[in-house]
Amino acid sequence: MLGSMMDWPLLCTKILDHAAAQHPKRTILTRSVEGPLHTTDYATLRRRSLQCAKRLEKHGIRLGDRVATLAWNTWRHMEVWYGLLGLGAIYHTVNPRLFHEQIAWIVNDAEDRLLFVDLTFLPVIEKLIGHMPTLEQVIVLTDAAHMPATTLKNAVDYESWLAEADDDFAWKSFDENTAAGLCYTSGTTGNPKGVVYSHRSNVIHAWQAATPDMIGPSCRDVIMPVVPMFHANCWSIAFTAPLTGAALVLPGARLDGPAIYETLEVGKVSITAAVPTVWLMLLQHMESKNLRLSHLKRVVIGGAACPRAITEKFEKTYDVRVAHAWGMTEMSPLGTLCGLKPETASLDIEGRLDLQVKQGVPPFGVEMKITDDAGNERPQDGRAFGRLKVRGPAIAGGYFKGMGKDAFDPDGFFDTGDVATIDADGYMQITDRSKDVIKSGGEWISTIDLENLAISHPDVMEAAVIGVHHPKWDERPLLVIVPKAGRTPTRDEILAHYEGRIAKWWMPDDVVFIEEIPHTATGKIQKMTLRERFKDYKLPGV
Ligand code: ADP
Repeated sequence: MLGSMMDWPLLCTKILDHAAAQHPKRTILTRSVEGPLHTTDYATLRRRSLQCAKRLEKHGIRLGDRVATLAWNTWRHMEVWYGLLGLGAIYHTVNPRLFHEQIAWIVNDAEDRLLFVDLTFLPVIEKLIGHMPTLEQVIVLTDAAHMPATTLKNAVDYESWLAEADDDFAWKSFDENTAAGLCYTSGTTGNPKGVVYSHRSNVIHAWQAATPDMIGPSCRDVIMPVVPMFHANCWSIAFTAPLTGAALVLPGARLDGPAIYETLEVGKVSITAAVPTVWLMLLQHMESKNLRLSHLKRVVIGGAACPRAITEKFEKTYDVRVAHAWGMTEMSPLGTLCGLKPETASLDIEGRLDLQVKQGVPPFGVEMKITDDAGNERPQDGRAFGRLKVRGPAIAGGYFKGMGKDAFDPDGFFDTGDVATIDADGYMQITDRSKDVIKSGGEWISTIDLENLAISHPDVMEAAVIGVHHPKWDERPLLVIVPKAGRTPTRDEILAHYEGRIAKWWMPDDVVFIEEIPHTATGKIQKMTLRERFKDYKLPGV
């Protein structure tokens, strides 16, 4: 027997309909790419998104077509998203921090028909346009007054383009499993792979993010996603804010410490989210200028491990609660968030700061397990680590054009490529990427733990740990260090710093000092390059 409830497809545009109906005057404040602050509201955003959908249809954009955006978080970028979603077309967010050849590669792979671009990235597109033959037109996200001269043939400013249609339009209807968005993983090895979100997965994910133990805004909050819309759907916030009725503040192109501080204050932001490096810049700025935060209550930090020192500063100095989150493009992206359970609620501040180094617990709709290389489940005791695998309705079940089939196990779990522990209370902690973990005599050594400890030494600016061949143990850890300017720590001082803090057999076999550690386009340490550089390194005693 089937239930007798309504079939109400989970379509992303219903989120905006709800916001416009229930929270029509809730503001969306943007620091525009042109400079001045711009204010709109959910009713107007919906009206202009309908207009955008009509204009896109006039161009010939139809169900299933891909359209690229190379843009910051602004109200115009949101209009383009919802306009496309209202047709069943697919927003393809392109990460401008990728290498130029990769930008062209993914636009071609996606076969994008149009490109919406911010003024900032226009020069890049002028250079690349000859290599992107599927693009029919480039629309610059500005108005006629700010439209620069360009070598692009039929480029037009967004406001003039939009004005060629009115807003007398109705969203198209289609199945909730229809593709909604496309985002490529950064592809440290091989070409990037496309993740195709559906309307259903986006709505479910926005709902998950809205629950109180996840990002959890209410209609009395003001939320600012500093994390860009091109970084895994800005962690759901372009959907979760209208779903909950929270007001939005969008930071535009300026993500430096002074700009973020000013936007937090002017926008009276109560919740915000970004990667750790953004918060380092903000904290440095506030410290140097002796500033306070008047409205901020909660900061979501993810995308890379959040050092204890950042959490401590926010919590102790500024009285802001930190939510350490983990996720990935394939997971829409939220996987876990580190909040308090009744089991951990009685911890004192130091205990809580220790706990918050962990990535936390999943919401309903994210199943997790850790396994060994053969796929056998490992114990959830906070000590055993294994490959972290996940399953759920907002997690990729495959990639665009059938890539990456080997990432899924027979039970349908997706191998995240991360190595983690899960403790008895369910808290997950990332210890490594699986390709970076060091296997010494069959046992695994966490490079992240060793790096975090190295960074806590006062003379160390950056640290990376890689495995180097060892005749007896297969691999042993080599610690690579960039010292702080003017400091000259020695090998023995650094190793002494580990004494009593790690198991003896985790002790790095040697330390090398270099001037710079190579990084990827998304700011992560490029261990492959380091491994290549030190592949013939002779460890002492070998
Ligand atoms: P990109 O590399 O382009 O940023 P993702 O955002 O999908 O791509 O990166 C996901 C990966 O980032 C995760 O698999 C994990 O390795 C890492 N990551 C994300 N959040 C955290 C976190 N809180 N702690 C440690 N690692 C994290």
